[in-house]
Amino acid sequence: MKNAKVLVRVDFNVPFLNKDGKTITDDTRIKEALPTINFLSQNGAKVMLASHCGRPKGEVNEKMRMTAMATRLGELMNKSIATVPDCIGPEVDAAVDKMSGGDVLMLENARFYKEEEKNVPEFAEKLAKNASIFVNDAFGTAHRAHASTEGVTKFVNHKVAGYLLEKEIKFLKGAVDEPVAPFAAIVGGAKVSTKIPVIESLIEKCDKIFVGGGMIFTFYKALGYNVGASMVEEDIVGLAKTLMEKAEAKGVKFLLPTDVICTQEFKADAPSKVYPVTDIPDGWMGLDIGPDSLATFKAELGDCNTVVWNGPMGVFEMEAFSKGTFGVADALAEVTARGGITIIGGGDSVAAVNLAGLNSKMSHISTGGGASLEMLEGKELPGVAALDNA
Ligand code: AMP
Repeated sequence: MKNAKVLVRVDFNVPFLNKDGKTITDDTRIKEALPTINFLSQNGAKVMLASHCGRPKGEVNEKMRMTAMATRLGELMNKSIATVPDCIGPEVDAAVDKMSGGDVLMLENARFYKEEEKNVPEFAEKLAKNASIFVNDAFGTAHRAHASTEGVTKFVNHKVAGYLLEKEIKFLKGAVDEPVAPFAAIVGGAKVSTKIPVIESLIEKCDKIFVGGGMIFTFYKALGYNVGASMVEEDIVGLAKTLMEKAEAKGVKFLLPTDVICTQEFKADAPSKVYPVTDIPDGWMGLDIGPDSLATFKAELGDCNTVVWNGPMGVFEMEAFSKGTFGVADALAEVTARGGITIIGGGDSVAAVNLAGLNSKMSHISTGGGASLEMLEGKELPGVAALDNA
């Protein structure tokens, strides 16, 4: 590593207070990249960090610069991190020339160039120009073939996974390839359409599938129930039916809630009532799984040894409809406590686990929403496939 020039793709796409580009509200993604950056720096490499932030659509955007992330990284590493206001070109070359072994240089947002998301080879070559080794540690964007995740690998001698990427692959791929049975998946959130591929592929691998969130009503519709004013994706009711039939044919237990917490208005303080799913009145919409369903879900999770969870059980952002989601989070903490493997697959379920203060009680919390879903589907991620086998 001594004096090796290493380009590391990190995911420093952090949230800012009021999108101000200055005040980072959650530095998890920076902290998660520390093992890789520290390893390289401590071993004397010249570390160049590339990342994206937000959606600047190929133009320079003052609120999406990487400066605040470099400052925060410097605080975490207790080291001064140099920045450069570009990710390719003469300014970068000059900054790299000045580097000594162990130095860390933060390059500017790669998405300031439209060539980044288009994966233009000439741009990727310029990104790779100063590096002989490429390390991908940006799991959250590994499912996208962009210049800084995939294109760049064609212009370096070695391309490897960083420690964070390695950890994500180990848990997510490990869960679907070699789960310790019984293997359960909990799928929730608003839209079934976005989760169909993952449900379909999990039916092939799981012993039990739990479904919650707004998507349950599409399944109820398929079963012929009245769903009142609840959200339904009419165009995929038929597909929902096919999924349930597939699960049955495979002997997979497909668990839908038996009761739901309903309201007449989508409002935090609107009066709510629990209804059996067979009895939802017209004008009422279900916004959370009910207490009986939660008790059944908890009992059914009792013997599971591997559990993956993606998507909330209800509108957990509103207290009145958060019990199902937090209840499931509690149940997963118990699975971990008795030695099971629990994997939280990105997005809103991660937010819920954090809100519940249970993050340290899960085996793995993924840093990528879309990427974790694709990995659970068994897809090969372009950012991973492009790396050396090692
Ligand atoms: P997704 O992005 O598909 O994972 O959906 C997450 C969102 O689904 C969260 O913001 C929840 O508030 C919302 N959600 C969960 N359950 C329901 C429900 N029963 N009706 C409407 N929205 C829901």
